[in-house]
Amino acid sequence: MYAKLFQPLWMLRDREYRGWVFRYRRELERNEQLSVDQIQALQWERLKQLLEHAYLNVPFYRRRFDDMGLHPSAIHTPEDWRRIPILTRHDVQANLEDLVATNCDRNRLSRNTTGGSTGTPMAFYQDNEHLACHQANKLRFRAWAGFEMGDKIALLWGADRDIPTRSWIERQRIRFIRRERWLNTFNVTPEKMKRFAHELIRWRPKYVLAYASSAYLFASFLREQGLDRIHPAAVETSADKLYDFQRQVIEDVFQCPVFDFYGSREIAGMAGECEAHTGLHVFSDIVHLEVLHNGRPAVPGEMGEVIVTDLHNFAMPLIRYQNGDLAQTSEETCPCGRPFPLLTEIVGRAVDAISTPNGQYVHGEFFSHLFYGVDGVRRYQAYQPSLNEVRITIESSGDLSEDTLQTLRRKVMAHLGPGIEVSMQVVDAIPLTPTGKHRYVISEVLLPFVSRPD
Ligand SMILES: [Zn+2]
Repeated sequence: MYAKLFQPLWMLRDREYRGWVFRYRRELERNEQLSVDQIQALQWERLKQLLEHAYLNVPFYRRRFDDMGLHPSAIHTPEDWRRIPILTRHDVQANLEDLVATNCDRNRLSRNTTGGSTGTPMAFYQDNEHLACHQANKLRFRAWAGFEMGDKIALLWGADRDIPTRSWIERQRIRFIRRERWLNTFNVTPEKMKRFAHELIRWRPKYVLAYASSAYLFASFLREQGLDRIHPAAVETSADKLYDFQRQVIEDVFQCPVFDFYGSREIAGMAGECEAHTGLHVFSDIVHLEVLHNGRPAVPGEMGEVIVTDLHNFAMPLIRYQNGDLAQTSEETCPCGRPFPLLTEIVGRAVDAISTPNGQYVHGEFFSHLFYGVDGVRRYQAYQPSLNEVRITIESSGDLSEDTLQTLRRKVMAHLGPGIEVSMQVVDAIPLTPTGKHRYVISEVLLPFVSRPD
């Protein structure tokens, strides 16, 4: 009970931020009650505002629109909207400073980076109001799964920079105020999983938040060890692709439903499952999400490229941003009655774990974090042909020094431990998979106790 009272006060950084989160939370919850037409009208209003703002205050968009003789006042319909050029990750990499609005306070911006599910590292900026809006959205989504602020939450997560390993005080705050228990999936061994399982059996978390593949790995392990006695109210999976066979095992072992969430570093929340589990609802009051097939809107059931516009990042607008993922829309309406459209499939977050001779399972996201903010890396791929070898290929934008390469290689070797050969090679181009998708971590080594179809 105490945590439910204190946590909201502790988790928020300052009064201004706190105010925004609460305000957005109320606003977003009200939006759930709107009709489809009302949501679309609201979304269109925001898109127009964003476009006007981008034209007036963001050098990159001003230049781009002027070059093609396009003025925001000429955008009236969805067809007009599609005349706006796609913003690629390469555009962002090459024009980072010109994408920041000239009328925002640079001192209040957070610089963030992504290794990206496509293996293309990229930096970007966000302001506090934007972060607060997405925080509020996360709380709205978790409420669909029955989570309330203050509930005990177990995390199977790998982001070293997200993991609270700081001071003793900070660790106590995480344990007792935020009520979290973490298993770092960048460094998992059977012993660590066993210890974590016993801890959770005693502690009884209400909610489990995990990389999809980590939740599956852990669930498979629990089942094999006869430790399947952890029963939260829900498991939230995100960050990488959740396959149906994984969902089955996770739901079976934890005896609760899985709620899949689709977000990324650059746009924290894009879609998530409700309690009816008919697909992932696009949070269309905070993002505008298009699915394009050969440049035209994909028909329901057809796979296409995700093009997303963040309606709340005025500091660095991402307008028609192609994040590299693929998705499928659905024309079904969900029995929950929420006005948000559905995605039935999201591809492109496929990532393998690397197994090491010393018995660790290293989540593929480790590599994505390793390449965060490294200048000169355009794309990369880690390939493990056998237990004792990992080959990393890098597409460079030209200014990647030999020193940087050696430093990266040393970091990989230190993390993976002895008995595994790590090579690093700069190449002209990394081949795509047959679906046109860049897979950034591929392992041919099957994990024990985990079966993987195909
Ligand atoms: Zn629904």
